Amino acid sequence: MKAVTPMMRQYQEIKNQNPEAILFFRLGDFYEMFGPDAILASRELEITLTGRDAGLEERIPMCGVPFHSAQGYISRLVEKGYKVAICEQVEDPAAAKGIVRREVVRVITPGTIMDMNLIEEKSNNFLVCAALNADEWGLAALDVFTGDFQTARWNGREMAAFQAEIMRLAPKELLLHPSLANAYPELVSGWKKQGILVSEYPREGLTLEQAVTVLKRHFTVSSLDAFGCAHWPGAIVASAIALRYVQETQKANLRHISRLTSYTTEQFMRLDPATRRNLELTQTMREGSRKGSLLGVIDKTVTAMGGRLIKRWIEQPLTQVTEIHHRQRIVSALIDDGLLRQDVRAGLRSVYDLERLAGKVAYGSANGRDLLALATSLQALPEILDKLRQGPPILAEVAAQIDPLTAIASRIRETIVDEPPVSVRDGGIIRPGFHEEVDELREAAGSGKEWLAHLEQRERERTGIRSLKVGFNKVFGYYIEVTRAHMASVPEDYIRKQTLANGERYITPELKNYEEKILGAEEKLTQLEYRLFTELRSSIEEVLPQLQVTADQVAQLDVWASFAQVAVEQGYICPEIHDNSQISIQGGRHPVVEAHLGPGLFVPNDTAFSDDQTLLLITGPNMAGKSTYMRQVALIVLLAQVGAFVPAASASIGVVDRIFTRVGASDDLATGQSTFMVEMTEVAHILHHASSRSLVVLDEVGRGTSTYDGMAIAWAVAEAIQRLGAKSLFATHYHELVHLEETLPGVRCYNIAVRESGDDIAFLHQIRLGGVNKSYGIQVARLAGLPSMVINRAKEILSGLEQKDGKKAISIPSERDEQPSLQRTLVRQESNNVSPGAFSHEGSVTSHDDSDSETSQM
Ligand code: ADP
Repeated sequence: MKAVTPMMRQYQEIKNQNPEAILFFRLGDFYEMFGPDAILASRELEITLTGRDAGLEERIPMCGVPFHSAQGYISRLVEKGYKVAICEQVEDPAAAKGIVRREVVRVITPGTIMDMNLIEEKSNNFLVCAALNADEWGLAALDVFTGDFQTARWNGREMAAFQAEIMRLAPKELLLHPSLANAYPELVSGWKKQGILVSEYPREGLTLEQAVTVLKRHFTVSSLDAFGCAHWPGAIVASAIALRYVQETQKANLRHISRLTSYTTEQFMRLDPATRRNLELTQTMREGSRKGSLLGVIDKTVTAMGGRLIKRWIEQPLTQVTEIHHRQRIVSALIDDGLLRQDVRAGLRSVYDLERLAGKVAYGSANGRDLLALATSLQALPEILDKLRQGPPILAEVAAQIDPLTAIASRIRETIVDEPPVSVRDGGIIRPGFHEEVDELREAAGSGKEWLAHLEQRERERTGIRSLKVGFNKVFGYYIEVTRAHMASVPEDYIRKQTLANGERYITPELKNYEEKILGAEEKLTQLEYRLFTELRSSIEEVLPQLQVTADQVAQLDVWASFAQVAVEQGYICPEIHDNSQISIQGGRHPVVEAHLGPGLFVPNDTAFSDDQTLLLITGPNMAGKSTYMRQVALIVLLAQVGAFVPAASASIGVVDRIFTRVGASDDLATGQSTFMVEMTEVAHILHHASSRSLVVLDEVGRGTSTYDGMAIAWAVAEAIQRLGAKSLFATHYHELVHLEETLPGVRCYNIAVRESGDDIAFLHQIRLGGVNKSYGIQVARLAGLPSMVINRAKEILSGLEQKDGKKAISIPSERDEQPSLQRTLVRQESNNVSPGAFSHEGSVTSHDDSDSETSQM
């Protein structure tokens, strides 16, 4: 048997240390991949698979990409969810004894990638870690580019909230402490089904003590008190995992990860993933695009940081009245002074992504242009601050929080030329007059070049060879070139160096003398420039924490200004916010539908919730505007709690703890659940979790099954919701439910008006008190263009059915009979499980009455 070559042995050792990543193994000007990695990469990247003699019987599969164009290939692999380990030669091959030493210098993973082309500007790229420690769910979210690092905790019973938060963060990569992964395999498979890249890390686990040490060491603190998570074991373990993973993969200075923010979801309005999706807060349900979502309408931020923050705020509405008031006061001030707002927004436009620039500085990948972008951004701040200080006191307070780091900005300007090159190693980066030696060396190199230019002229005159040229190449340095035709005129003192096809190249002692001066000066110059540049970069590293605070404050200012701008452009008003349980909206509009329809076309509507009006039962034909109305109420409440202004004539909002929605019909194909099943699961979730402080939107509950079944369910659900006392909007096409108004306190019937003339109907989109007893389904179908033959036949069938119905009235059990059975069903489900995703058929909500009712269409 043949022996493996030493290089392959080295490869294998490194590969064994990085089994989960595709290993890019540097060989000269290429990164090579071998074995299974090569087979995989050649397929994914569509590059040729070859083989290499490794000393074994069979050649091993190999493929490679050129070093200079590797970035694109790496990004493509990471985008597909792979991890890539970059293995470099870490010693000069010329100086190496035996085989060149190689090491993995960085592992690039979906959660840690820093390629601007791959990550969205206005979203965070989160690496999320989850752990379960001492019966506490802990979670940490880290954006390695911006240095944003947050942690949160939940007690053991709050798995649903913990899961919802993970979904909100939309992790690019999810690391799970093995204890969690082992105890809840169904959670892991659920996340994987959602398309999240999940790995167990670290494999051997991490104890609380180890975790505390990891965090203390990184932040150089003696206790975790300052971060607010000292007594949160789950959060500590999750945060430590995040940090350790990034330290191991990036092998870089992580100084920009300079703080850890603790939060609890109680600080914010709770929104489960279904509600986030249904309300289309940050993306539309169909295309998943920002355009057409709430964010698409209200995001007028002008900086990348502001764009990320407004998204976060929309997803985390506040529940503390004082905090909401604080935001409102600043927005109001920015509305009142239009000129000031314009100036602030104009100023912010020249602020680049300070957070990501800070990340580049920490990684040592910031070049001259990045530092200049940093300086430009910081230098835009003093003028903005001046304007703010001239405004009302609340804006002066905002200004006081922003440190423009003037010294850093001017140091960058003094050091770096106005148009620096991309490379930081080739010189041309330091501003003339900044450093004496740089100027001297430039002078020396420059005057040498000037001498060369003269030399060509002088030698042409001396030799009479008009085509004589002075040139330069890397191998021979400077030379004089003479074509074959003039060979006879070449003077004695020329020393021949190289023969070409139609000429000769010469040198002279004088030329070599100058060459030494020029090249020596240039080499020294580039080295010195590089050193000065890195010194500057390190000095910025020292102020990264301050820079991040500035970035944060600027982002907030941008969002406030955006709220103000939207309010002015769209005619939004400042809602009154309070802690009691009333909600009253006059002339409310749906922000997105209104923006889509254009000015003046949306019909505004009122809404009122009070202690004796908690459940609004809404009837009306399809297309009347029921969903629009209900979503509009939810969005107005949400915007109000974000601290933004709202689309209404006036509004008074008692803060809600959660918004729940059950709208539309969507098959959850990933989990193989039918529409009806998804609907019932969501309804069950709401019944278990809504409180009297919640806002609940239920659209057409029971639609997914047969008429009687569906109506019975809708009826019973309405009763249950009424008992909870949650503020609810309940749209239904079962007109029979209007009777609830007579029997249950707090129920009020509304309908959305249509105008009927003959066979035609017109939608007025106006909500008014009272129920309706007609569906207009056939009229709507006609509007949709169903052939008249079908419409006429439908009318016939309908009238037949109505006659039959008249004989045999539908009997609805009284509430008293229904209540116990519903409660039993709920109790049974509670004990079954809490995860909507893992909901099993056994636990489904079925009529407790075992009588032979109609079969459902599940
Ligand atoms: P429903 O839920 O009753 O079937 P939708 O809420 O889906 O009806 O509304 C149907 C369409 O009517 C919407 O797409 C929208 O264009 C329009 N619409 C709804 N409400 C209004 C309104 N208040 N003003 C103007 N147009 C509206």
